[in-house]
Amino acid sequence: MCERDGVKLTNLDQPLFEGATKRDLVDYLDAVADRLVPVLANRPLSVIRILRGQDPFMQKNLPKYTPDWVKRYGMWAETSKRQVSYALCDDRRTLLWFANQRAVEYHPTLMTTDVDAGPTHLVLDLDPPAGDDFAHVVKAAVLVRQALAESGLVGTVKTSGSKGVHIFVPLVPGQGGEDVFAATRALAARAERLDPSVATTAYIVEDREGKVYLDSTRAGSNTVAAAYSPRLRPGLPVSFPVAWDDLENVVPADFTVHTALDLLGGKDPWAESMPEPQTLPADLVEQGHTIPIARVVAMHEGKRRARARERKD
Ligand code: ATP
Ligand code: MN
Repeated sequence: MCERDGVKLTNLDQPLFEGATKRDLVDYLDAVADRLVPVLANRPLSVIRILRGQDPFMQKNLPKYTPDWVKRYGMWAETSKRQVSYALCDDRRTLLWFANQRAVEYHPTLMTTDVDAGPTHLVLDLDPPAGDDFAHVVKAAVLVRQALAESGLVGTVKTSGSKGVHIFVPLVPGQGGEDVFAATRALAARAERLDPSVATTAYIVEDREGKVYLDSTRAGSNTVAAAYSPRLRPGLPVSFPVAWDDLENVVPADFTVHTALDLLGGKDPWAESMPEPQTLPADLVEQGHTIPIARVVAMHEGKRRARARERKD
């Protein structure tokens, strides 16, 4: 039995996922804890766990057997429509406990427990179409970067660890969730307009026509996979910060629990590349409020198409 920071680590040689052992996960997370914990701290945390012989699942509510010393925060979860007791992963010990629970992916919310401060970042989530190559995502990311610059903003970028990228703009506290949400929609629309052959804001998948989707729905109590978080995919890739100018020279699979530590070389490029907190320009927020929320539009559009199909039958 092995123990670190008072946390018992068990069955480290057991397989975890696709050739990686539980030890690979624990050792990676421990080594990156000084950089990952600041990304998670004080934010209600969801994790994806993979238990032996079971399908992976997302855990929001802490299980009954959670030790008392794990900090927690009660919050209403809109997706599951219930009060959830979320963990706050504020220290290495909690991260090690989660690692030992075979928690592979770490998904913090975009706001901290200081709810009045509002979202801490504006995020654009870029999703390539199925089977597409990463170069296409990079082109779309460049459009977002340009749209940000033309709006007087600057962001930083990381691979999601899966297929796309996440662009983050840190915010001065106190900007309301709805305004941040609106500004995200406006930025997506501005980026799309820069080159509609590359990027789309179409919520309905069949309307995207093979373009990169600029998802503007990540806001407030929504989650985004944390920088440095492993992802439950072949090779255990991790979400990894990339300098804007390096983006075209990488692919997400370059960064895994096996390669990331060497590439980091003790540095924390996510913290180091994060610009100063910014205030969203009023015209951007205003424009965003004129753009309907994609999910609502899609719901009406879905009904309209269903009616059209019925008329044809
Ligand atoms: P990819 O690059 O493949 O898009 P991703 O992490 O960006 O990877 P998305 O499906 O685009 O995955 O989702 C964006 C974020 O939204 C995720 O990182 C995750 O935090 C959150 N999310 C997605 N699906 C769910 C879900 N079913 N439940 C909770 N959170 C989710
Ligand atoms: Mn995505």
